[in-house]
Amino acid sequence: MQHQYSNNIWRILACPYCGHPVEKIDLGAICHYCHEKYVYTDSGALDLRLKKPKTYHLEFELGTSLLSKSEFDFNKLSKNITPEVNFSGTRVPFHLTKELLSYFPRAKGKNSLMLDLGCGDTVHREVCELAGFEYVGLDYNSPRAPMLGDAHSLPFKDSSFEFILTIAVLEHIRFPFVMMREAYRVLKADGRFIGTVAFLEPFHSDSYYHHTHLGTFNSLKYGGFQVERIAPNKSWSVFMAQSRMDIFPRMPRFLCKSLVLPLSLLQKLWWQAGGLIPRSETKSDRIRNTTGAFTFIATKE
Ligand SMILES: [Zn+2]
Repeated sequence: MQHQYSNNIWRILACPYCGHPVEKIDLGAICHYCHEKYVYTDSGALDLRLKKPKTYHLEFELGTSLLSKSEFDFNKLSKNITPEVNFSGTRVPFHLTKELLSYFPRAKGKNSLMLDLGCGDTVHREVCELAGFEYVGLDYNSPRAPMLGDAHSLPFKDSSFEFILTIAVLEHIRFPFVMMREAYRVLKADGRFIGTVAFLEPFHSDSYYHHTHLGTFNSLKYGGFQVERIAPNKSWSVFMAQSRMDIFPRMPRFLCKSLVLPLSLLQKLWWQAGGLIPRSETKSDRIRNTTGAFTFIATKE
């Protein structure tokens, strides 16, 4: 069965190849400018992935520094004390945390759109709709995705979304700087960009570039974003990430946690012992240096 898209969604669709608007046809969509057709897949999703190679030009400014050492707070995320959306009583979906949810924006109007970039099985749909958004789920190849597309060449017009969410996607992107530019392009001014990216997780599902906190900052800045927060995921330590994903795959979570616990405690004790490590390193540094993944919150000014 074909996914149905509202007029609100059809209005923002654009040819991923040339960027011109596409028109709805029985088979899917057509670009009258470059004559490319985009059809529905067997799973019923409109397939807006690139049909032929496309060149994307980037420029880099060399000889500048990203930031001086103490300029940015890379500490763990605390709950937003003035959240825009009330999620109490809502189950926190996979990969998200209560802290991160507390930074979700509220939709400004009834036609406000959000993009779940790399939506997978659309597990984030509920929380995005609770925040008042019309949900647009895009993935490269998930059979459950409402729409297929390439994060390097998003099939949307400029300034289409108030909110973009991208959870555990960035590490799977071959050209992260291009994705950042694309996310920036389709986000509205004042829009929020929230996501997570693997750091010390093992290689998984063709991951390319796992990001450090500085790498995440650099990628976001390159895209043009104002970076609000980059924070380590405290409960997803390197021990948990490595154990759950690769060392003991499919081991029940509680068993894995109990195996990892002694090592985590030992690590904490070791760091607290103090004399053996440089004094400048703090508990926050330990959490940041040994996290499995980072969370980021950025805006388009
Ligand atoms: Zn076109």
